[in-house]
Amino acid sequence: MILVLQKKASQDHVAAVCAWLERINLTPQVLQNASGTVVSVKEEVSELPAHLFTQIPYVDKVIRLHSQATVATSATLSPIELANGLRIGGGYAPVVMAGPCSVEGKAHILHTANRVKESGAKILRGGAFKPRTSPYDFQGLGLEGLQYLDEARKSTGLPVVSEVMAPEHVEMAEPYIDILQVGTRNMYNYELLKEIGKSRHPVLLKRALSATITEWLDAAEYILSAGNLKVILCERGIRTFETQTRNTLDLSAVAVLKKMCSLPVVVDPSHGTGRKDIVQVMSRAAIASGADGLIIEVHDNPTQALSDGPQAISPELLRDIINESQQIYALFHGTKRSDCAAPVDASRSMVNR
Ligand code: PEP
Ligand code: MN
Repeated sequence: MILVLQKKASQDHVAAVCAWLERINLTPQVLQNASGTVVSVKEEVSELPAHLFTQIPYVDKVIRLHSQATVATSATLSPIELANGLRIGGGYAPVVMAGPCSVEGKAHILHTANRVKESGAKILRGGAFKPRTSPYDFQGLGLEGLQYLDEARKSTGLPVVSEVMAPEHVEMAEPYIDILQVGTRNMYNYELLKEIGKSRHPVLLKRALSATITEWLDAAEYILSAGNLKVILCERGIRTFETQTRNTLDLSAVAVLKKMCSLPVVVDPSHGTGRKDIVQVMSRAAIASGADGLIIEVHDNPTQALSDGPQAISPELLRDIINESQQIYALFHGTKRSDCAAPVDASRSMVNR
């Protein structure tokens, strides 16, 4: 069961709600995000009458989770707010995360962070732990890579998203990054999902290569039910029979998710296609389909990239994509506020192309 508290509930009121629940031997867990405070209760309470909970001061709504219902589909969970106030989802301007596939070295990540910031990206991406298909490929710089990401965020002010692959990476990575990424190969890593559920960091949960939307939401549920309500879903392409693209970017999933739940949805056209020549057009389509943001791989010397060079775009193209994204989102969906958006560069307006 989840109790959604009134917006005006102060920390003292939240404590009073918890004390009330504890008096009847329930175990409250307080969860706070940009949209307010909820208190979850793990115990089975279906035998208890609803008015018992609605009468608690400052309780606005009682959400009972029946066997088929889930936190993901029952609660309002967007926008998700980062520590710097940037909001993702909930009708706010689309947020673009960009950077290299891998953190390749200190100078490289600092340089790329500045380039993507100049292009209008709001979040820096870069992998320190790399899940590579071949064990002989570059496996990432690990802790050293996380430290370089921290330096890049300090020098640019950009929050950082980076992948964690094992439960022990979560605590290790938290001080250095802002968003924990669960990669496609780890969507079914339940011990990792449970560990991330205990974290206060937002999570970018990528869809597994062959996961149905339901399986993907079940993975999100592992994180949500453990107490972390800041889950961002990321469509990054699924495996089909097609070989012209690395994966098949399933944009219908964005539209379906928007009907099923309120979690923010971000699209990754880089892994979704594997082709730098179609990243721009698929970014346009992603935003038109309702995505709350994009995550894009950028490298200014792709032939030398230590991973995923063929899908990396230039910082210049990134700038165009970001400008277009703001316009397309506003055209089809309107925007609540544009203060988090990259300033639209009118001289490069896509309308003039
Ligand atoms: C990545 O973001 O570099 C990555 C490895 O992504 P995915 O898990 O989607 O393959
Ligand atoms: Mn990559």
